[in-house]
Amino acid sequence: MALLARVAVIGAGVAGLAAARELHREGHRVVVLEKRHSLGGTWLYNSRVDSDPLSLDPARAVVGTSLYHSLRTNLPRQIMGFLDYPFAKRIHGDQRTFPGHEEVLWFLNEFADEFQLRELIRFCTEVVRAERAEGRNDEWVVESRSRGSESAKVVREVYDAVVVCNGHYTEPHLVEVPGTVLSGAVSAVLRFFFGAVVVLIGFGPSAFDISRDVATVAKEVHIATRAPNVTVGKLDNHKNIWQHEMIEFVDEDGKVVFQDGSSVHADTIFYCTGYKYHFPFIETNGIVTIDDNRVGPLYKHVFPPRLAPWLSFIGMPKQGTPFMTAELQSKWLAHVLSGKALLPTKEEMMSDIEKYYHHMEETGVPKRFTHVLPPNEIEYMNWLLAQVGMPPLKEWTGRMYKECAMLAKAKRDGYKDQWDDDYWDAVIASQVDSIVP
Ligand code: FAD
Repeated sequence: MALLARVAVIGAGVAGLAAARELHREGHRVVVLEKRHSLGGTWLYNSRVDSDPLSLDPARAVVGTSLYHSLRTNLPRQIMGFLDYPFAKRIHGDQRTFPGHEEVLWFLNEFADEFQLRELIRFCTEVVRAERAEGRNDEWVVESRSRGSESAKVVREVYDAVVVCNGHYTEPHLVEVPGTVLSGAVSAVLRFFFGAVVVLIGFGPSAFDISRDVATVAKEVHIATRAPNVTVGKLDNHKNIWQHEMIEFVDEDGKVVFQDGSSVHADTIFYCTGYKYHFPFIETNGIVTIDDNRVGPLYKHVFPPRLAPWLSFIGMPKQGTPFMTAELQSKWLAHVLSGKALLPTKEEMMSDIEKYYHHMEETGVPKRFTHVLPPNEIEYMNWLLAQVGMPPLKEWTGRMYKECAMLAKAKRDGYKDQWDDDYWDAVIASQVDSIVP
C-alpha cells in the first residue's frame, strides 16, 4: 500500500512547483512555503536593486532576482517545459522560440492554475529553520515567519518530509580581485552605466547579454574572463566592447590591469560571476555540507543518504534543462516517498556518490562543478525516468540541447533569432510516435 507523507516544499519556483505537482499527484499532503508574494522564483522579475549589490551583508534585504530586464531564455521553449505540459504549445504574447522572461512567468502561472497548485502555496512565508525532530529521521520541524512584519511570530510545524527548492541564483559568487573594488551591481539597471567605462567580469550567458545591454549606454565595456584561449581585443561588430584575460589587479585610482597586459581606468566593476548554493535555514548537524560549491553528500543530486528520503533537494543541477530535470527528480521523489520506488541502502548510495567524486577527480573536473550536468544531462534524466517506469526521452531533446549549448558557447550575436525552427519542427514531428533509444 502506498505511504502518504506530509511534505513541506520550500520555494515556489520551477523546482517547487514541479515538486508540488508530483507529490500532490501521488497523494502526499503538500504545503509549499514561499517567501515572496507570488510564484515563479527566478522568473518573477523585480526591477528594484539590492541595497548591497555585492551581497557582503548577510542580513541584507534581497529585493530583486537575478533576472535582468532584457533577458530572453537561453534555451528554446521546446526544452523549457514539462514533459506533459510543453511550453512550446503554450504561447501567450511572445511567440519567439527564445522568448522574454515575462512569457516564462506567464507559463508557470498557467501551469500552477492548471494543476491547482496555488492553493497549496503559502505566500509571504519565509522558512527560517528546518531541522529533524530530536532522535527522528522521519519528523521535521519547520519554522517559518510571515514576511513584511518584523514582529511576526515564528510558526512551528511538523512534517514527515522536507523538500528544499530554494534555488541557487541569489547568493552571488564573487571572484577575488586584488586591489580596490570600485562598485558592483548584480542587477542591470542601465542608467547606472551611462557614459561610464565598465569592466564586466564573467563569460556566461548573463555576462554575454549584459555586456551587450550595457554597451548601448556605456562609453566602453571591457569583459574580463578566466576562460581559456579567449581572443583578446575589440569585438568585431561592436564599437565599444573589448575582451580581456582576467583582471591582474586594480589600483587605488581605478586603473584595472588585465593579465594580458592591457589596462583601463574603470568607473565600475560589474560582477557576472555566478552564484553559490546557500541553505541558511537547513540544520543537519553537519550531515549535509557545502564545500567549494559541492553540496554533499547527495545521491543523484537529490537525497542525502543518512537523511533520505525525508530530506531531499530538487533543482540542484546546473545547466541542462532545469524544468524537465526538476520534474523528473520530483517524480522520483514522489514515488520514493510513497514506496513505489525503492532507494538503495545508505551504504550503496554513499558508495555511488564516492564513485562519482572519484571519477570527477580522475577526469580533472573541479569540485565546484559537482552539480553541473552536461555532458551527462540526458543520461541523468533517462535514469530518473527509469526509476519511475517511464520510457527514455526522445532523441531530439538531447540533440537540441547540445546544439543550443554549442551556439551559446560560441558567443555568436543573434543566434537566438537564427534558430532553424523549420528544421527542428520536422525532426520533432519525425519522432512523435517513435520510441527512439
Ligand atoms: P528559483 O527560481 O530561485 O526559486 C526558488 C524559490 O524559493 C523562490 O521563489 C524563493 O523566493 C524561494 N525561497 C528561497 N528561500 C526561501 C525560504 N527560506 N523560505 C521560503 N521560500 C524561499 N533556465 C532555463 O530553463 N532557461 C533559461 O533560459 C534560463 N535562464 C536563466 C537566466 C538567469 C539569469 C538565471 C539566473 C537562471 C536561468 N535559468 C534558466 C535557470 C533558472 O534558475 C531555472 O529555470 C529555474 O528558475 C530554477 O528554479 P528553482 O525553483 O530551482 O529556483
